[in-house]
Amino acid sequence: MQIQDNIRHVEQVIADACARSGRSKEDVTLIAVTKTKPVALLQEAYDAGVRDFGENKVQEILEKYDQLPHDIRWHLIGHLQTNKVKYIADKVAMIHSLDSAHLAQAIEKECAKIGRVMPVLIQVNVADEDTKFGVSCSETEGLVRVVSEMPHLKVCGLMTVAPYVTDPEDNRETFSKLHKLLLDIAGQNIDNVDMNVLSMGMSGDYETAVEEGAVMVRVGTSIFGVRDYR
Ligand SMILES: *Cc1c(COP(=O)(O)O)cnc(C)c1O
Repeated sequence: MQIQDNIRHVEQVIADACARSGRSKEDVTLIAVTKTKPVALLQEAYDAGVRDFGENKVQEILEKYDQLPHDIRWHLIGHLQTNKVKYIADKVAMIHSLDSAHLAQAIEKECAKIGRVMPVLIQVNVADEDTKFGVSCSETEGLVRVVSEMPHLKVCGLMTVAPYVTDPEDNRETFSKLHKLLLDIAGQNIDNVDMNVLSMGMSGDYETAVEEGAVMVRVGTSIFGVRDYR
């Protein structure tokens, strides 16, 4: 029951943030981030109605994939190595962590083989942290243009992992910056590019992210509790 209660709570926080900012709650997708968590807990979230799951490791998606219903939409939200693309090309609904032309080429190659178009988000290191993956704001449009030429990739928007902060207000500017960047690039009307998705906000700051226009929030700890990496 705990997980279902947590999901209902997170959904309510999202709905309230939408109401405050004049948006519809249907415009925001909750992605349950399930890294390190056992499939029994994922099944509980599934039974509570969640269909979008986020994992940051290819290996973990592969381990869990066959043990769970196949109408789950798996979101790859962590750093992806080019040599691992082939394992998940037919399994994930979206890759949130595209951050180089080199990786885009690897995805293009594998998706061409199986004849599918992969929805991708460009990961932007908005706050310019040394420890984070992602392209800088100034490099983002260039990468969008490169990817737009690839027939088996579809750019759907932008993603960021905001800095770890104790006060979510400290990330408001980061979120609004990513939103503005999305609108700037959308205004370029690049062929084969849809700038609709803003993937931003985690357990500590998803409410603020929704107020700033998040379309997908990635929430782990607030649903499943703290992770145990031992
Ligand atoms: C782990 C992770 C999350 C979820 O973080 P929580 O603080 O547990 O909600 C979101 N996005 C990415 C990219 C992650 O790796």
